[in-house]
Amino acid sequence: MAYLADTHMHSIYSYDGQMCLEDMIKRGISLGLLYMTFTEHLEFGQITLKQFLNRFQVYSDEVDCLQEKYPSITLLKGVEFTNPEKYPKELERLQKLPLDYIIGSNHETLKEQSEKEVSTYYKKILTMVKQGGIDSLGHMDYVRRKFDDSCIEVDLLKEIFSCLIRQDIALEINSSAQRRKGLDSFPSSEKLVIYKEMGGSKVTLGSDAHRLQEIYDGIPVIDERYDFQKGLYLKRNFVSLSDKD
Ligand SMILES: [Zn+2]
Ligand SMILES: [Zn+2]
Repeated sequence: MAYLADTHMHSIYSYDGQMCLEDMIKRGISLGLLYMTFTEHLEFGQITLKQFLNRFQVYSDEVDCLQEKYPSITLLKGVEFTNPEKYPKELERLQKLPLDYIIGSNHETLKEQSEKEVSTYYKKILTMVKQGGIDSLGHMDYVRRKFDDSCIEVDLLKEIFSCLIRQDIALEINSSAQRRKGLDSFPSSEKLVIYKEMGGSKVTLGSDAHRLQEIYDGIPVIDERYDFQKGLYLKRNFVSLSDKD
């Protein structure tokens, strides 16, 4: 069965979002989607925890309301937490919210193109994965939107993947790369081959849509290209959509 879900999207509940939830749902239904996860940004510097928690209540109520209105599609509540490794207490607080899904992401860019900078970026990702408390690792090599990361030490990459597998954290395959200088995906196909060779299987697919036309954009291509256990998180549990093949 095709992957009829988008697990990474931002509505007006994110600081950089423009879409209202209902427009997103109508777009998702028109595309034939069965699941949509709204993963609003939690990025300190843009929002405080208090503001996020207040806003979450409003968001959550609206999602519940829309779920009643549109029963043909399953609506899921998510958050994309930037650098959770820096905020263990706040991450702990998130565990108490009625969330379906927590993505851990790093949105930093490099100061310069150097092996040292690339290594620092990935070490932060390793720390995030080691800490746990997240369901998936979002757009792992997002740094590629501006810098070439091919000098990454393979051992460090493998350490991240083995930690992901051990911690039972899914790897997100983010299709927004296709809208960035025609890259394939975040992470790149080369990294996905290594993940697979190491026994990695759980993946989530997301478009990272901030605009209506970006919803589900590029996901069918990725779905066709890779043979993984593709799924999504519902009440923080992985549900495979591949099993229904
Ligand atoms: Zn965003
Ligand atoms: Zn992101």
